[in-house]
Amino acid sequence: MVSTRLPVLTIDGPAGAGKSTVARALADRLGFVYLDTGAIYRTVALAATRASVDWSDADAVAAIAHDIVQHGKLRFDRPPGGTQRVFLDGVDVSEAIRTPEVSSGASTVSAHAPVRAALLLLQRDIAAVGGVVMEGRDTGTVVFPDADIKFFMIASPEERARRRYEELKAKGMQVDMQATLDEIIERDRRDTQRATAPLRRADDAVDVETTGVPVADVIEFMARRIEQLPKR
Ligand code: C5P
Repeated sequence: MVSTRLPVLTIDGPAGAGKSTVARALADRLGFVYLDTGAIYRTVALAATRASVDWSDADAVAAIAHDIVQHGKLRFDRPPGGTQRVFLDGVDVSEAIRTPEVSSGASTVSAHAPVRAALLLLQRDIAAVGGVVMEGRDTGTVVFPDADIKFFMIASPEERARRRYEELKAKGMQVDMQATLDEIIERDRRDTQRATAPLRRADDAVDVETTGVPVADVIEFMARRIEQLPKR
């Protein structure tokens, strides 16, 4: 039977590889929904902090993740071309989830298998209808292994740290270049070495090297690959 669902595109890669920028641009161009799976883990880490739950407590964090999913407490809102807003329990947490502290918390809570299990169906449900660009660490390997096209983005740790540094500085945050690089390297280590759904390139992924490549060129390269998808 020929599927009539719109394509699902996945973009995975390490922190700071440029996934969000290109995922948003491609979603806008295609008129697709943009799903930032990292924001889900970040929101769970923030909710844990607010509930005084230790990020290393797998069961307690998983209970928070279940509560968020079951009660529909997480909501994304993004006008086409606009900035994504994330709401937890109706409160806008878009800025609160982007601090270096929450980045570190997200990479800790996301290593727990029960936390990932609690968030898996939520991600699959959003993508099931198609017409979605998902980005994260395991979207092409675990969340949607049947995706129509998978990209794996790469860039050197130094370039990724520089981008993250500029991004946080532009938001008026106090940042230190060396601390940013250390954080990127530590998150890479945790994301690639965890037992459950580690960051890894799907065997059928298209590699996208972005070190020194202008973002517009990266988007064009990916858009061309998408245009080559068989028409339904
Ligand atoms: O993509 P972002 O940097 O916002 O993700 C924050 C953290 O959430 C990552 O460092 C990673 O540990 C975790 N994450 C994950 N699986 C995903 C997306 C994010 O484990 N699909």
